[in-house]
Amino acid sequence: MSSSKNVDVLIIGSGGAGLSLALKLADHSIRVAVLSKFALTDGSTYYAQGGISAVFDADDSIESHIEDTLDAGAGLCNPEIVRLTVTHGKSSIDWLRQQGVVFTEEKNESGEKILHLNREGGHSHRRIVHTADATGKAVSLSLIERAREHENIELLEHHNVIELITRPIPGQAAKQIVGAYVLDSKQQQVKTLSARVVVLATGGASKVYLYSTNPQSATGDGIALAWRAGCRVSNMEFMQFHPTCLYHPNAQSFLISEAVRGEGGKLILPDGSPFMQRFDPRAELAPRDIVARAIDHEIKKRGIDCVYLDISYKPESLIREHFPTIYDTCLKFGIDITQQPIPVVPSAHYTCGGVLTDSYARTDIANLYAIGECASTGLSSARS
Ligand SMILES: Cc1cc2nc3c(=O)[nH]c(=O)nc-3n(C[C@H](O)[C@H](O)[C@H](O)COP(=O)(O)OP(=O)(O)OC[C@H]3O[C@@H](n4cnc5c(N)ncnc54)[C@H](O)[C@@H]3O)c2cc1C
Repeated sequence: MSSSKNVDVLIIGSGGAGLSLALKLADHSIRVAVLSKFALTDGSTYYAQGGISAVFDADDSIESHIEDTLDAGAGLCNPEIVRLTVTHGKSSIDWLRQQGVVFTEEKNESGEKILHLNREGGHSHRRIVHTADATGKAVSLSLIERAREHENIELLEHHNVIELITRPIPGQAAKQIVGAYVLDSKQQQVKTLSARVVVLATGGASKVYLYSTNPQSATGDGIALAWRAGCRVSNMEFMQFHPTCLYHPNAQSFLISEAVRGEGGKLILPDGSPFMQRFDPRAELAPRDIVARAIDHEIKKRGIDCVYLDISYKPESLIREHFPTIYDTCLKFGIDITQQPIPVVPSAHYTCGGVLTDSYARTDIANLYAIGECASTGLSSARS
């Protein structure tokens, strides 16, 4: 076992959560190491397609976004956390643009360039900021580039954290974090990394399901690491299933973005008949859990393998301009989405639960934080 150099903050995970924090801390002269289990781009962030919701439209409002979120959360959301997140939406997009992320734009009536906003399920307004249908790739590559340039950030790829190291706080029942044991899988060597602060940004756990939209890295490592170290985890029963994953034997969990439904894509049965209206008046634009359950219901009731998502009645130019990645990928599997419906099934997509934190991302262990998809923010922030 060997030791590695000390840093102030060890961030486990190189997705949107880990890299955003790294860049913000590094700008304050804090020395940061960012670890990823495989390559830097192997988290879910890189694969996100549809985009990020924020209030930009003049007719939209923070209150409306909060209302839609609470509604989609079926009364189970913490309203304080919803307000905090929604209120920071616009400034987060502005920050991403400052880091070089280029989002899709359009011209308004006066000829000014403005962000193009997509519509997605559960949203009563257009509020999805996106980079065509490959938003995560644009975000991921820009943040990695900025992090590579920063003198206070060390990027350690293929460094798989296998255990957190804690020690008791003298005179208290609580523990504090002091570092982590890490397998450098290229060198086949276990290293001990110490740091004053450790941040879990390890993403979700959806890859533990047979059908998942997630990459190989999404096996819930951070949640397990924190649990073994003595943290509480919460809401793990809330796994979000995305309604529309491409159903094809050779397509490795390829997602068909919700924006396809936002642009008018219709869900149909093998005989061509629509069915969503029978489940919810919002039909294809109902929240994800409702649409995924409706599809699952139809598949099981009828003994069919999949249902179909049809956008082919829209102009070919619109489809190819808005969904270039989906168009190209489906074509590789012999499906021309401008001519025929896409076979789809629901699959595990997002881990709503995770390591229990307060709104400052603090966990039950002193100086151990959890952010992004691996966190479940629910505690009152008023504790010391
Ligand atoms: C196909 C797809 C499409 C999506 N589309 C959207 C969308 O349109 N809009 C939206 O808002 N969300 C979308 N999501 C969800 C969103 O992308 C994720 O919730 C978000 O990117 C998670 O970011 P993160 O930084 O928390 O984790 P991730 O981006 O998953 O990063 C996790 C990081 O942790 C590292 N890691 C994990 N375990 C270890 C370990 N043991 N040791 C070291 N490192 C480790 C990984 O290597 C990786 O670097 C989508 C997700 C998928 C899969």
